[in-house]
Amino acid sequence: MKYTILDCYTDEPAGLGVPPYLGTYPRYVAGYLGGDSAYVTIDDLRLWKKNNGIVHETRKSQKTDITTYNLTNNCKNIPQILSETETLIVVLGVHVPGKYLSAVPGTLNEVIPMIKDLKCKKILTGPAVFGTQLFGGRFFEKADLGIFDKIDYSMFNFLYKDVKEYSLKGASILKQIPDIRMIEIETGHGCDIGKCSFCTEPLKNRVEFREKEDVLNEIKEFYNLGARYFRLGKQTCFYTLPYAAELLEEINFHCPDIKVLHIDNVNPVKVVLDKKNDFAITKAIVKYCTSGNIAAFGVESFDLDVVKANTLNTPPSIAYEAIKILNEYGSERGSDGMPKFLPGVNIIFGLREESRKTHLENMKWLSRIYDEGLMLRRINIRQVAIFEGTSLFDEGKDKFLRKNKKYYWKWRNEIRQKIDWPMLQRVIPSGTVLTNCFAEIYDGNTTFCRQFGTYPIIVGVKGRLELKKFYDLEIIGHMLRSITGKVVVKRELVVDNPNYKIIPQNP
Ligand code: SF4
Repeated sequence: MKYTILDCYTDEPAGLGVPPYLGTYPRYVAGYLGGDSAYVTIDDLRLWKKNNGIVHETRKSQKTDITTYNLTNNCKNIPQILSETETLIVVLGVHVPGKYLSAVPGTLNEVIPMIKDLKCKKILTGPAVFGTQLFGGRFFEKADLGIFDKIDYSMFNFLYKDVKEYSLKGASILKQIPDIRMIEIETGHGCDIGKCSFCTEPLKNRVEFREKEDVLNEIKEFYNLGARYFRLGKQTCFYTLPYAAELLEEINFHCPDIKVLHIDNVNPVKVVLDKKNDFAITKAIVKYCTSGNIAAFGVESFDLDVVKANTLNTPPSIAYEAIKILNEYGSERGSDGMPKFLPGVNIIFGLREESRKTHLENMKWLSRIYDEGLMLRRINIRQVAIFEGTSLFDEGKDKFLRKNKKYYWKWRNEIRQKIDWPMLQRVIPSGTVLTNCFAEIYDGNTTFCRQFGTYPIIVGVKGRLELKKFYDLEIIGHMLRSITGKVVVKRELVVDNPNYKIIPQNP
């Protein structure tokens, strides 16, 4: 049987698979199928449909085409690969829509017309089996799934005793990807305390952790294949992992040359509870992970009425306490120019009982954090996406979104202007040198660069730097959510894709 995995990318509250991240789904599916499937991306398919597989140079007047940016080594052979495919497995699903610098996840409505005429069996898997939505503030995408022979829940959710084997075999798809990938590593799923009204995680998974040895072996497998950028990001709370500190120490021991090791979601309650162990997990993260690390706190709202009405897990006072603890241990600047380990805060608009008071409460707590000299690396604000099966869908739906939508721009803007902007100047002051920023895309005469990592800051640099090279950048200015810089050091060419040639265009 010839299998092809079509990666349309995934983004969930716990787990990112949008490039430069390589998500777990295509890897596990590849392992389940024996490890030698063809791996193609939605970008490969778009390039084939739009440009017959030819990559055009970006003209000075153009923005880099991020819909066809994440090509695999197979991008030239898509018609042949698809004609030989007997089963096509489509990995798709966005549950927490974000803005992506250099990728556009595929939607059902995009991919279905592209594959409907292929004469092969078609299987849909990934978070899309529970619905998908590329934009916040809406219901999940409705599409006719009749072209799929199967919507496969089992491939979406393998048992961890099987993941042990699949994750090792499936790591080999990395060989089909020419560019650097940040490897998203799963440590567990399910949520032990949360009943948040909007969240699909408790619907998808009961609480379970992978064995420490299995996680470590998967990281070693990727490390031996040349991967150097990792995020322990597929879990609802890193601190809940029974072996969090030991795992970091062992990764450090076995993979000494790792360039980036970061985490993602953290429940602030667990940071505070770690006091019982003299903050052993926080200390291990600071010691063994690389700098620029962020604990993403799903605070969602600092309004206690919203917290109660949506059974959120963190009251504002606990969030504040956890933010203080991470600042105490993690705010020292690390070798890449960023503070070692800072909190990030997620805020969601459109939850039950949201009112103007909610914004005032958000501003009150965020201002307190700023006024007390604490640092937040980033504040992520999004409108809730409403999925069937959640308690928000059953009760309230988009009532508050509709009621307050007219205020969202103003509320968001006030947070950006009054908190984000001065906070960014505190976290990354002018004159800071951020090392190893990767030049990703052009927009006119500006090159946008980022470090690899969890929620890395975007740095705009005047002029068109050679893409896919690393630069050390001195920070010279601050926008609301990004910064500007100038090149201090240009590093060696690290990515060269021999599988496609860029065709120059006439200016
Ligand atoms: S804490 Fe809430 S948002 Fe986070 S995973 Fe649990 S239920 Fe979902």
